[in-house]
Amino acid sequence: MSVLVNIAIVVASIIGMEIFAWAIHKYVMHGPGWGWHESHHTETHGIFEKNDLYAVVFSFIAAGCFIFGSMGHSWLWYVGLGLTLYGILYAIVHDGLVHRRLPFPRKARGRYMKRLVQAHRLHHAAHTKDGCVSFGFIWAEDVRKLKTDLKANMAVRGQNLQIEQAD
Ligand SMILES: [Zn+2]
Ligand SMILES: [Zn+2]
Repeated sequence: MSVLVNIAIVVASIIGMEIFAWAIHKYVMHGPGWGWHESHHTETHGIFEKNDLYAVVFSFIAAGCFIFGSMGHSWLWYVGLGLTLYGILYAIVHDGLVHRRLPFPRKARGRYMKRLVQAHRLHHAAHTKDGCVSFGFIWAEDVRKLKTDLKANMAVRGQNLQIEQAD
């Protein structure tokens, strides 16, 4: 039974982390934390970008879960495992498949993975703090809806956006 509980904690942590990351991306990174995140919406020079500091902060949270988890609160250890697995998924999908920062051997295959890549490219269609769409990393809304939202956001800002065809 406890194995099932532990698996449930790991899965819940991965889902919870996507919701948390979505909120942080929308309200912090595209808000008061734009100073770090801007580097990810502009041309990158070199291997690292300032935005990677967010991943460092999250890895400290996961490390804290492992440390306190091994001191008697074992459920916290499994939360740490969920956060770590989320970080690996994020690296594969976001840095590997979408941004090609990691030497990822293959392109996105399958309907959902293609949608995920297209949705995040639409997030990057705007290089500004405001007006962006699609803030999730492993969950993506319907691409047609995102394009409509993005065009509406740009129209409000008086910009005419050319959305490049992402495949
Ligand atoms: Zn962003
Ligand atoms: Zn990105």
